[in-house]
Amino acid sequence: MNAAEWKEKLSRVGESFSSAISGAAAGNIAEVELQFLGRKGELALLLRDLGSFTIEEKKELGRLGNELKARLVAALEARKAELGGGKSKAAAGLDLTLSGLPFPKGSLHPITQTIVRLSEAYLKLGFAMADGCHIEDDRHNFEALNFPPDHPARDMQDTFYVGVKDSSGKDMLLRTHTSPVQIRSMMAAPPPLRVFHPGRVFRSEAVDASHSFVFHQVEGLYVDRNVSMADLKWTVDAFIKDLFGSSAKVRFAPSYFPFVEPGAQVEISCVFCGGKADKCPVCKSTGWLEMLGAGMVHPNVLKACGHDPEKWSGFAFGAGVERFAMLLFGIKDMRMFYENDLRVWKQL
Ligand SMILES: [Zn+2]
Repeated sequence: MNAAEWKEKLSRVGESFSSAISGAAAGNIAEVELQFLGRKGELALLLRDLGSFTIEEKKELGRLGNELKARLVAALEARKAELGGGKSKAAAGLDLTLSGLPFPKGSLHPITQTIVRLSEAYLKLGFAMADGCHIEDDRHNFEALNFPPDHPARDMQDTFYVGVKDSSGKDMLLRTHTSPVQIRSMMAAPPPLRVFHPGRVFRSEAVDASHSFVFHQVEGLYVDRNVSMADLKWTVDAFIKDLFGSSAKVRFAPSYFPFVEPGAQVEISCVFCGGKADKCPVCKSTGWLEMLGAGMVHPNVLKACGHDPEKWSGFAFGAGVERFAMLLFGIKDMRMFYENDLRVWKQL
């Protein structure tokens, strides 16, 4: 075969492609593609014959072959588009009225949802949101909160130190509670103030069903003239009823936290057994659940923030978010919050 014959064959391939493609239906367009443009298609076979030509001829004929190939590909795509995709019988029979595949939208993590619910309850009571930092100095996390150096109360909170000293030469740490936000709020603005802060805290704890080295707390603080324990009780009661309904009951028991005096442990009637305490594993058949730590702001804390305890008084409370989330979502093991198993979250 000489060059002229090859060109003749090439133009015949082009012509027969043109008639094949114009008559092609959606069902056989793939066959046309294979016949002309496939690995063993007419064009490929012809291009393979170029091996026996001179270099000059190969250059010219190769260029013609590639030009035709480009035309064929473009014509094929145009025809497919005309036929509505046309790649297969299924595509040709595309039903645009069918509903689409579901697209998972996702949702907020249960801990975040719980924080939102707790925050909303306090925003309704006139509290403003406050913020703090995860890495704290000794002063904000302990000292100003009435934890003197070497005080045994510090042992209640196993602390992660970050290996950096603050300006007074003390070790910086990952905050062990959200209470430093009380100090930051009181130092930032004079009373009266009413602030609420949710956030992440860190303690060197072994992980089990009810402990983790990272967890979440919420913190509330109200400082004004003549704030009393009665204000604290009313506020906590209103908050618990907002969250668990008007039948939820609240009781206070004496407790100790260095930054409050008097301090109280707040218990609510068990939301699982309704306080009936009949063989209830959640409240261990006591009918009550420990939910918050609270109390009147210690005079030393007010003094540390530059406020006169004779003039101002306040209450503070704190609680674990995971504890509320476990009750709200019926989750028994705290570790589930961090494993993020979608099979669990999809049930909520
Ligand atoms: Zn119970």
